[in-house]
Amino acid sequence: MSLKPKLLEAIVIGSGFGGAISCCRLAQRWKDQVLLLERGKRYPMSAFPRTPHDMAANFWSLPGDQAKRPKHVQAKTLRGMFDIRNFARMDTVVCAGFGGGSLIYANVFLEPPEQVFERSWPKGLNKTVLQPYYGIAKSVLCARPIPDWDSEPRRRIVRTELFKQFAQNQKRSSSLADICVFFGNDFQQPTPIGIQEINRYGATQTSCTYCGECDVGCNTHSKNTVDLNYLFVAEHVHRAQIRTDCVAEKIAPLNELGEVDIAADGAFGYRVYYRHLDHGLSHADARRVVVSAGTLGTNELLLRCRDEHGTLPRISQRLGQRFSGNGDFVSWVMEGKPPSDPNYGPVITQYTDYNLFKNHDPERAFILEDASYPAFASWFVEGLQPSLNPIGLVKKMVRILGMLGNDIWQNLAGGKWTGSVGTLFYQMLKGDVSYRSSVLLCMGLDQGDGVLTLRDGNLDLHWPQKTNMPLYNAILDAGRQFKRFVQSHFFIPMPTWFWPIRNNITVHSLGGCILADSPEQGVVSADKHNRGQVFGYKGLYVADGSVLPSAVGANPVATISAVSEWIAEGITGIQPHDDLGMSP
Ligand SMILES: Cc1cc2nc3c(=O)[nH]c(=O)nc-3n(C[C@H](O)[C@H](O)[C@H](O)COP(=O)(O)OP(=O)(O)OC[C@H]3O[C@@H](n4cnc5c(N)ncnc54)[C@H](O)[C@@H]3O)c2cc1C
Ligand code: SF4
Repeated sequence: MSLKPKLLEAIVIGSGFGGAISCCRLAQRWKDQVLLLERGKRYPMSAFPRTPHDMAANFWSLPGDQAKRPKHVQAKTLRGMFDIRNFARMDTVVCAGFGGGSLIYANVFLEPPEQVFERSWPKGLNKTVLQPYYGIAKSVLCARPIPDWDSEPRRRIVRTELFKQFAQNQKRSSSLADICVFFGNDFQQPTPIGIQEINRYGATQTSCTYCGECDVGCNTHSKNTVDLNYLFVAEHVHRAQIRTDCVAEKIAPLNELGEVDIAADGAFGYRVYYRHLDHGLSHADARRVVVSAGTLGTNELLLRCRDEHGTLPRISQRLGQRFSGNGDFVSWVMEGKPPSDPNYGPVITQYTDYNLFKNHDPERAFILEDASYPAFASWFVEGLQPSLNPIGLVKKMVRILGMLGNDIWQNLAGGKWTGSVGTLFYQMLKGDVSYRSSVLLCMGLDQGDGVLTLRDGNLDLHWPQKTNMPLYNAILDAGRQFKRFVQSHFFIPMPTWFWPIRNNITVHSLGGCILADSPEQGVVSADKHNRGQVFGYKGLYVADGSVLPSAVGANPVATISAVSEWIAEGITGIQPHDDLGMSP
């Protein structure tokens, strides 16, 4: 009788798009035999923080973590959602939690144009190959445009119209984006706002309430986050074991005796060492491991395994190369003439094409998207008015004082109260700063020439900003045009862009562990028989944003999901279906 402990069939590290898809598909193939490790916690309905105090703690930072983070977060023990890192020339934002980036993403599911796959992608992997997998992921994530508002005026989103008018003015096309938001199970007949239904995978969701809070977690579970579809089925139907609050720290190959052996190539499985954040160190063994810790998490873990622990010495020297921020650039146009009302509706509703889809210009290809932010933030913005626009404030005060003077005169003359309190509030609040301001979200084809390395055991990023300036300048031009169009005086590129800081911010970190035809070109295999397998190892895979060999210009989740479905099919041999294997 063998004393070797029984191996699990698979361990998946991370529960974002790549991890959720891998976990669900592998658990469908090997029921009960898949373990998922996620460092963040679960967010049931209404669990996302909202008060200022709770939001202040909604960041990720662990003791001993030396990564450069915002000062108030550094060296604290915080297990919230926002994992922010400050690298030279680039700040990054990712999410920790069961569901990964889907918990805070802006829901857009957008396929990039074919030309993207000509940018350092391996020969056999292109739009045509990935097309069926885009289709499956889109169907599971129920991506669709916002419903029209002909029969329900509450569905009208003012900023969608404003951005469309701007696109027309610029002779560009604005299209409604497919967004992964729940408007009910029937695509044609949306469920009334705020009504709950069980989705087709068994999870309870609420028909979107248009609250504009998608980027801080949807408290009504109206976003189609992956914990409500892929992960829900993985756990409840295919019986995957889910361990949240668990940080994977090291992966080591096993030999035929089931012992850790750094000379082994993975043919006998792996041991994954992890730390349960409440209960301490532990490990689990499996025949295969899928690393889906997101671009930053995956690069960091694999770099440590290769260069610090020495447990995966065969990983390609290309690890960490071809990082891309997907050309992200956010800016604001404040206090325009027409209303924009950015506190209403799902975060993104449309995209305007700037040479990404039509008249493709690889140096200056980007899209412009509208954005909403939570209404509670608009009170904060209103409080900032004295510093943002003191003249506007003076004008408002003059208006209010004039009205008060008038009222006092009427009271003295007529001796009666004229409902001034209501009028006072009206004068103070109407057309607040946010109501006439727009958030411009741009993303495009940067050069993908960043390099991730380890410095003192922590992830570091070299971002060659200069090579990407033609793209950023084109984006800045579009912002200035928008300012002119809405007759605003204030165009504010992201706060970190002012000289001498000049830092980019990305929420779309990609690359570093890229798919390629050989270990000289990349880290994981694009060969159709070894999809996503790390060169030099058997049974060690990567499936997340880190495998994308270039910027995609469009929001990347569609491509991350399609590639992850393609990799999972390679591992399991099962053709994916949007029923997630629920039908017998
Ligand atoms: C505010 C915001 C808005 C966005 N909007 C959009 C959008 O509209 N459309 C779009 O396409 N993209 C959007 N994105 C980007 C999108 O969220 C990411 O591209 C996507 O989530 C990446 O998927 P992934 O599978 O690579 O990794 P992630 O979703 O980042 O998942 C990685 C997971 O691994 C976990 N993890 C990391 N390290 C470890 C470890 N050592 N052990 C255990 N677990 C670990 C993390 O906690 C995380 O849950 C947005 C991102 C942000 C921040
Ligand atoms: S607008 Fe509000 S209810 Fe709708 S998906 Fe976003 S956060 Fe959820």
